[in-house]
Amino acid sequence: MAAAAATVRRLSATEIKRAVEGLSGETQRILSDLVRFASFTDERAAQEYVHDLLHGLGLQTKKITVPAERLRTHPGFSPVDRAYSAERVNVVGTWQPRQTARGRSLAINGHIDVVPVEEATLSQWTQPPFEPVVRDGWLYGRGAGDMKGGFVAGLIAFKALRSLGFSPAARLEFHSVLEEECTGNGALAVVTEAAGVHCAEAVLIPEPLRGILSAQLGVMWITATVVGKPVHVLDTAAGINAIDGCFKLWTGLQALEEHWNSAAYRATIPGAAPYAGLAHPINFNLGLINGGAWASSVPSSCTAHFRVGFFPGLTAAAVREAVEANLAATAARFGINYQLQYDGFQALGVDLTTLPTSSVGQLLAHAHETVTGTPADFAPATCTTDVRAYALFSPQPTQATCYGPVARNIHGIDEAVSLASINDVASVYALFISEHCQLEEYAPTLQRQL
Ligand SMILES: [Zn+2]
Repeated sequence: MAAAAATVRRLSATEIKRAVEGLSGETQRILSDLVRFASFTDERAAQEYVHDLLHGLGLQTKKITVPAERLRTHPGFSPVDRAYSAERVNVVGTWQPRQTARGRSLAINGHIDVVPVEEATLSQWTQPPFEPVVRDGWLYGRGAGDMKGGFVAGLIAFKALRSLGFSPAARLEFHSVLEEECTGNGALAVVTEAAGVHCAEAVLIPEPLRGILSAQLGVMWITATVVGKPVHVLDTAAGINAIDGCFKLWTGLQALEEHWNSAAYRATIPGAAPYAGLAHPINFNLGLINGGAWASSVPSSCTAHFRVGFFPGLTAAAVREAVEANLAATAARFGINYQLQYDGFQALGVDLTTLPTSSVGQLLAHAHETVTGTPADFAPATCTTDVRAYALFSPQPTQATCYGPVARNIHGIDEAVSLASINDVASVYALFISEHCQLEEYAPTLQRQL
């Protein structure tokens, strides 16, 4: 082992950057292919593509469904109102080192799902959202930034090392997962598969966030259905307007949002510490509302879908208790009759306090600085990511974080990712792999026999 290690020379950042640059055409081609899949409700074709891509790279591939029955009582599971069919799979690709592993294992995770494009905004896109184009160094399209571009960066890192004649000297996995944007159940299925066989000592998720992720908020989806009393508008006082009731509940929740952003509240929550530099980290959203039937009838029913953010360290039960008390107070004040349902995200926050001093955090920061010439920034995010499945529920010890390319207008109009930043991230990942996993000489014939 020692003799083999001595024969592997160190790769310089310049060599790696040049190799990544040489694969730019491929980066653009793979990313364009991925963006063409409108993978917001049906990701099957996109996952087939990813499967073939990983298989073509000589990785052992595996498809993992979401075992809803097994996971239903898992604290990381987000309930959904639909079944998971056997065709809806997460795709895992595994590279095993030729020799006994010298380095440490790594998993690179990317979500294949994208958020939908609202029909009404289609005309505002410069080009159709699922027809990728490159302009001024940016690749445009829904999902280009969040986060197909990052996943491609991870693949290109691996390909770049191979083009230089090396492969990881430890297990390296790629996880292409479902439903990061609504439940996180895809990543949870991979993390809990076979007692954690796909977990790794480091997990990197190339989400397009600022810097290296140091904390992320919890996110909960809450559905409130207000039941009104339909009457003709000439006698509105006799009826109860369900749409109006939803807005009153929303106004009450906004007061809770402001309270959770207040200095007084934050002082009582240890998990608020990473967000000290942010004025308004907690965001609530009324994202979808559906009610009424006729402009001249008082609506009898209205359903509102809320997204609530909360600090790391808070339990789901504590959040539900606070939200329910807030809604009950509003309802009592205005005589609103409502029912609650929790579906979709029930995601806890994650505080990665130890990351900057961990070997993973330090190697990643060093690789970033070497490639870009600027110091790395550890930054908290005001959203959730699949980091939580790995950080909170991995059966094996792991250090997970996000570090990804520069994107703009994610979830919005004319979403785009910087191709130069994808190259930077690919180079950073390749450098990280060379230190964390270490390298061995690439031996394609042996891998094919696996
Ligand atoms: Zn994302």
